[in-house]
Amino acid sequence: KNILELNHVKKEYSADGLKTLAVNDVSFSVPEGSFIGVMGASGSGKSTLLNLISTIDRTTSGRIILDGTDLSQIHPNQMAQFRREHLGFIFQDYNLLDTLTLRENIALALTIKELPRAEITKITLETAARLEIEDILDKFPCQVSGGQRQRCACARAVAASPRLILADEPTGALDSHSARNLMETLVMLNREFGATILMVTHDAFSASYCKTILFMKDGKIVHSLAHQKQDQWGYFM
Ligand code: ADP
Ligand code: ADP
Repeated sequence: KNILELNHVKKEYSADGLKTLAVNDVSFSVPEGSFIGVMGASGSGKSTLLNLISTIDRTTSGRIILDGTDLSQIHPNQMAQFRREHLGFIFQDYNLLDTLTLRENIALALTIKELPRAEITKITLETAARLEIEDILDKFPCQVSGGQRQRCACARAVAASPRLILADEPTGALDSHSARNLMETLVMLNREFGATILMVTHDAFSASYCKTILFMKDGKIVHSLAHQKQDQWGYFM
């Protein structure tokens, strides 16, 4: 089953009479359980693509189907709710709220589901335990290490079991040791939580953890690599 489908998606920007096709006829699908990396040079259209999928921006033409719903058919008033119900986000700077404890940061992602309080408490604890931050849940983000903040952001992203997790340059600000830790955590979310992940990055080391890599250039997907199959010479097929 496909969590996400893009069909001939285009996004055109016009500024000062100049038109840019930031995303130019992109089609691909994301089956459940995927871990897809989108790579490309600066200006190739990665952020635009992510903004379209995350419903922050609207396509010029083409269709994006997320969990069976055509994004263009969602009323603007319903957009925020739809996003909260279907998507989890992991950003470069994690976006944890400084004035809330780790527990509250994770629970916040769950309150929109209108679950009973006891259920929220339970899921928060379970998710935290799997990310090994259950002992520091009552601390504030500024009181824990960078690695612990990272794991909290990952816990928050998966807690509500979103259909798709979008990661935007999650290792962008990290040294190589930290980048490895984060990527191993994302692999764990994919393997053990069954999270479907789409990650945008310009970093080859991070992308090497993905099961599939799409390469963007000038708004188009020009190449894709899948990890599982190799031909007789060892090239990916
Ligand atoms: P990337 O994330 O790969 O660096 P972007 O999606 O940011 O690429 O940009 C793709 C192209 O679209 C670039 O040529 C960029 O200048 C242009 N672009 C992006 N956002 C806007 C905007 N808001 N207005 C005009 N042009 C834009
Ligand atoms: P830990 O002891 O948990 O590994 P440290 O604070 O000693 O944490 O630093 C290593 C970890 O911190 C790495 O896993 C990295 O992910 C993270 N890290 C360090 N600085 C930052 C930062 N400014 N923002 C996000 N993560 C950071």
